[in-house]
Amino acid sequence: MNAEIIAVGSELLTPQRTDTNSLWLTARLNELGVEVTQKSILGDDRDRLAEAVRASLSRVPLVVLTGGLGPTEDDVTREAVAQALHRRLLFSREICDWIEARFTRLGRKMAEINKRQAFLVEGAERLENPNGTAPGQWLDLPGGMVLLLPGPPREMQPLFEKVCLPLLRERLPQLHIATRCYRVAGMGESDLDALIAPIYKLYSNPVTTILAAEGDVQIHLRARCESPAEAEALAGELGEKIREALGSRVYSTGGEPLEAVVGMLLQQRGATLSVAESCTAGLLGARITEVAGASNWFLGGFQVYGTPMKTRLLGLDEELVTRNGVVSEAVAVAMAESVRDRTGSTYALSITGEAGPESSTPGVDPGTVWIGIASPEGAQAKVFRFPNGRARVRNFAVQTALNLLRLQLRA
Ligand code: ATP
Repeated sequence: MNAEIIAVGSELLTPQRTDTNSLWLTARLNELGVEVTQKSILGDDRDRLAEAVRASLSRVPLVVLTGGLGPTEDDVTREAVAQALHRRLLFSREICDWIEARFTRLGRKMAEINKRQAFLVEGAERLENPNGTAPGQWLDLPGGMVLLLPGPPREMQPLFEKVCLPLLRERLPQLHIATRCYRVAGMGESDLDALIAPIYKLYSNPVTTILAAEGDVQIHLRARCESPAEAEALAGELGEKIREALGSRVYSTGGEPLEAVVGMLLQQRGATLSVAESCTAGLLGARITEVAGASNWFLGGFQVYGTPMKTRLLGLDEELVTRNGVVSEAVAVAMAESVRDRTGSTYALSITGEAGPESSTPGVDPGTVWIGIASPEGAQAKVFRFPNGRARVRNFAVQTALNLLRLQLRA
């Protein structure tokens, strides 16, 4: 089944407020096997909203609205849905008493305008809101369902989970979902898509979603079938084909981040790691230590941002730095070798580069980063040119360094 979500509230059209309700609702609906095919944000305008509701109902059998159920004039969701369906709004004595009792419990008197919240769209079922005064509403129509939910997430979420989910489960065909998540490093989103699109486009079920961040692409598969076994088999079938096409570029099949995978590989080998960081100045160490228990394999490192620190702390030869430049293969190799020697670790990573936005190193373009790796077999370095943007360059550098080590550990 397909659904549409309409987030109501003029504040959601300002730069100050984000519509997070639809993200949360999409996740819950997907778990039920419902695909969200359109989301809209509308201001507090009754006519526009009524038109949007009518349009949504002409496309999908489930429309979920959040927000605009408050007591004030600009809360127009009830009126708009009634208008869209050519139905009346009916006053409910029961809801009014419930709201009044809630105010009394809180030691307050109900204001007259709160009575607006006691109106139900003709034919709607009231959905009790345990955390607020605005009840939700549920409408069963000949061809579909409309849900009116309060806007504040702390009201909407428990109401949806406690009241709407059981009702939806009764009405929706029983579908089982199986998911897979593959994480890929060392490949951009467009190259990855060019490689695997011919495979996943053959399947409308599972649905494939690709999410990209700096140096990290996630592939999510979601299969929906009548039995759990069928869903598992279908997700596994497509998953295996994608995995095969991507080979060693897939670093995790359970959603684990790269630093956790590297930590596991080091631990399996009883090996340790240290780092020497210039342009990332601690970012790599911070990523590595996001994994609980990292002290089992991470010894520590040196933050050598300025050249004097590279010579003083790591003992790099000044002559070597001057001759090659601070962003160079020779310096990256010397940094990795030196930190490995000084800490006694099995492996060492080094990063020296130009994060930008302007170049402070003559002859070196922003985004140029040398990454060094030292191991019992020797030391080497590779150069990378990352896309512009200081934060992006630094994140790419960290991800790429971790991936180089992962590939070496797997070899
Ligand atoms: P209330 O009775 O609190 O007025 P309501 O259903 O009328 O409830 P709104 O007035 O539309 O809800 O929204 C109240 C607050 O809830 C907003 O200021 C905003 O902070 C939050 N909110 C509303 N809609 C969303 C949304 N789609 N995503 C995230 N937060 C939201």
